[in-house]
Amino acid sequence: MSFKMKYSIISDYIVAPSKRRSGIKIPEVLFIVAHDTGNDGSTARQNVNYFQNSRDAMSASAHIFVDDNEIIECIPATTADPEKAWHVRYDKTEDNKIFGEDANDASIGVELCYSKSTTNINNLEAYKRYVWTIAYLCYKYALDPRQKITGHYVLDPQRRTDPVNALSVINKSFQDFIDDVYKEYIECTKSKNVKVPAKKVKKTKPKTEKEPIGELTVTAYHLNIREAPDFNSKIVRVANKGDVLKVYTQKNGLYKVHPTENQWTSSNRKYVSFRTIKSSSVIGRITVKAYHLNVRSSADFNSSIAKVINKGENYNVYAQKNGLYRIHPTKEEWTSANSKYVKYYPLRATTVLGTATIEAYHLNVRSAPDFNSSIVRVVDKGNKFNIFEKKNGLLKIHPTRNEWISANSEYVRYSGK
Ligand SMILES: [Zn+2]
Repeated sequence: MSFKMKYSIISDYIVAPSKRRSGIKIPEVLFIVAHDTGNDGSTARQNVNYFQNSRDAMSASAHIFVDDNEIIECIPATTADPEKAWHVRYDKTEDNKIFGEDANDASIGVELCYSKSTTNINNLEAYKRYVWTIAYLCYKYALDPRQKITGHYVLDPQRRTDPVNALSVINKSFQDFIDDVYKEYIECTKSKNVKVPAKKVKKTKPKTEKEPIGELTVTAYHLNIREAPDFNSKIVRVANKGDVLKVYTQKNGLYKVHPTENQWTSSNRKYVSFRTIKSSSVIGRITVKAYHLNVRSSADFNSSIAKVINKGENYNVYAQKNGLYRIHPTKEEWTSANSKYVKYYPLRATTVLGTATIEAYHLNVRSAPDFNSSIVRVVDKGNKFNIFEKKNGLLKIHPTRNEWISANSEYVRYSGK
């Protein structure tokens, strides 16, 4: 099966890496997001030039701009291996619900240019090219146009009306547009129906939190377990006083107490006591080198993306597993440990030289091995500390922080090297 190339797609890529074009590849294109520019009368060329000139201004982009004259691809989508664009906010969840992925990680974004109050764009001609472009994308990625095209307004209804706004200029509804893409697909492939390989029917895995973040003990006599992180949702069962449940995540004041099923219970300390399972001690620190870096929901590169972090940001590291770093002390937030994307600063390996017991009633803790340095806190008689360093008559009592106390035997009993 081939596709009739009625028009040509011009590639004019935004320079990468930049905020608008990360260069990160899309592993599999699963759907198409239809947009309009929202900028009455602006042409494909003007939009692409603007993106190019402001490529480091923000992480917002789309793959292809279409007007009545040109189809310009500024982020690879058809002319090279598809890359990520930033055309739907990550915090929106409709894309995950409908397609099982975030739009930026699994879709191509196509922008329609239109004239509403201006006359410089022939809207019908622009629409024809837009329909053809999206039909071609469906052909290229073996997507059924009747199922795998969505609109930005569907994914982000609070903020967006595109492309419905631009379609209304030529009296087309979104459904008309889908029908037109389907017709174009049939015409350009000279086939009777859409042929979608079986492998493209992607099963969406239920989101699982494999590793518990803690454990709760029920202290109320009875505790409702609900089907969603919402106190108004249906009660699926009841736990009893003394029951111990593993906690997998936390949301809206509820704990998820089952690794795969939706079972949520109040995190209110009146009804439950909670203890963290995972050690949350810091083992190091990272600075993000990549423009954008995915944070995943488990120590697995195939797990869903929880959020995205950006170049220059710093995070503590709490664990390392399967080539990922955990960057949250309690939540499952993991990011690549690849030195291409992050610079890692391990905590200095520390050797305990000995221990010190405070003999004075109160003893100043200073910010440097210097009796004139500022006092950061005070420790009391009987406190015992590991000692990590000795310098200028002071002892370092914290493995990483600058906390120093006098080594004077009048105030401190020291044993060790
Ligand atoms: Zn949009």
